[in-house]
Amino acid sequence: MTERKVRVRFAPSPTGPLHIGGVRTALYNYLFARQHGGDLIFRIEDTDSTRFVPGAEEYIIESFKWLGIQFDEGVSFGGNHGPYRQSERRDIYKKYVQVLLDAGRAYIAFDTPEELDAKRATIENFQYDASTRLQMRNSLTLSQEEVDALIAEGQQYVVRFKIEPGRDVVVDDLIRGKVTINSNVLDDKVLYKSADELPTYHLANIVDDHLMEVTHVIRGEEWLPSAPLHVLLYEAFEWADTMPRFAHLPLLLKPIGNGKLSKRDGDKLGFPVFPLEWHDPKSGEISSGYREKGYLPQAVVNFLALLGWNPGEAHDEMMSLEELVQYFDLGKCSKNGAKFDYVKAAWFNHQYLLQQPDEAWAPAFGKVLSEQGIDATTAQMTEVVRMMKTKVIEYVDGQGNKKKRNISFASDLWPLTKFFFVAPAEFDREDKFIKKNWKEDTANEMRNFAERLAQVADFTAEGLKAEIDPWVEQNELRPWNAWRVCLVGAGQGPDMYELAAFLGKEETLNRMQFAIANLG
Ligand code: GLU
Repeated sequence: MTERKVRVRFAPSPTGPLHIGGVRTALYNYLFARQHGGDLIFRIEDTDSTRFVPGAEEYIIESFKWLGIQFDEGVSFGGNHGPYRQSERRDIYKKYVQVLLDAGRAYIAFDTPEELDAKRATIENFQYDASTRLQMRNSLTLSQEEVDALIAEGQQYVVRFKIEPGRDVVVDDLIRGKVTINSNVLDDKVLYKSADELPTYHLANIVDDHLMEVTHVIRGEEWLPSAPLHVLLYEAFEWADTMPRFAHLPLLLKPIGNGKLSKRDGDKLGFPVFPLEWHDPKSGEISSGYREKGYLPQAVVNFLALLGWNPGEAHDEMMSLEELVQYFDLGKCSKNGAKFDYVKAAWFNHQYLLQQPDEAWAPAFGKVLSEQGIDATTAQMTEVVRMMKTKVIEYVDGQGNKKKRNISFASDLWPLTKFFFVAPAEFDREDKFIKKNWKEDTANEMRNFAERLAQVADFTAEGLKAEIDPWVEQNELRPWNAWRVCLVGAGQGPDMYELAAFLGKEETLNRMQFAIANLG
């Protein structure tokens, strides 16, 4: 067999927003294509018109644009294997349905839903297959004349694949090895429906992979049960020589408990299961997205890449898209499901946020501040980020436990940085830090300290340090915690000189006066 250029495809059905598992599938296809100098195709599988959702296709395209996953061909990207939207390929599928009919590998069936229900009622575990097909109303039991007459009369029909019984069908999977299944368990799947003149997923998928010269089918584990049928279809078309290699990726599992990751897990534990926010056109329901939550696309890509694969000794977990292309190994993907560790996702975001320059936080931080009615300059926000980005925040996890984590989103900054923008308006006398650090003569000490601060000409962190450090030492003072009470109102925040410099002399002295007046 001659070496073929690697061609892979991501082939979603536009039935709603792209699930995060679909994003991982596309990412693995992308990595595989790039590392083999191959092509990545974007195909829309929209043959089930009843499940079509407006806006879904655009949503999927925008998601990949945000993530930096680029396609070489397909819907909205062009290419010479098009059209890439299955609803625009009806004539092609009709032709191939005819090929199977002519070769005796498929047949026409007229059974109505009522007739099928009646059969199900009389035969236990009824399956349309070699054991039952001769009891049904189809082109195997009717004469050619009868079939022609029914069609001419306008009777609706389906075309079914004629599966030969008693055969071991082998799916040779790059991740799972050889998976063998006996054809007896397969039913004569519907490949085409006259009612909408459209093929089903199975036929369209195989015909397109063949015509688009796809070499590797990399997709989620949920498609593994379809694979034996697909192998038989390649055989029936006599395309077995160029049948793509299969790789079925492990499932994404719930973070807690057992089973497949669902949207409900995300709602419950507070993480998105979609790349972008999705506004459901029918129900109006809004589902959160990684982008709107404040994730950086690099963090999402890095996190997803490691759900089902890891670089072993070759590299640590932090990998750019280029590094992922270099180290990714499809054959080393896990067979077992990958737990969706959303805490790890936040950790990755923290790492990538720290890698960017402080001013890059400003747009997102500015949004958070303006929601609080605060108008800050980019310079101010950059300063606050510099001082606070490595602090830790407390949060309540999905099970109600208090936990700590690194700042992982711009929105995490608000509770930690409010005092930069809003002066303390009252003091909680029961607060442990205040109780401990505001004693009888503290007000006098602060009055004294304020007087000294008023004389500092260079009110920068360095200027303050140069003048105040020696003065404090000479007078054997320890004003820090009480000063923090004045400026912050609590036992948190950055270095006091940095904070005072940020606030400026006037605001610093105002806050001190206010505390003295209030705490006495
Ligand atoms: N249209 C299928 C989906 O929605 C494609 C499955 C495949 O990759 O074969 O995922």
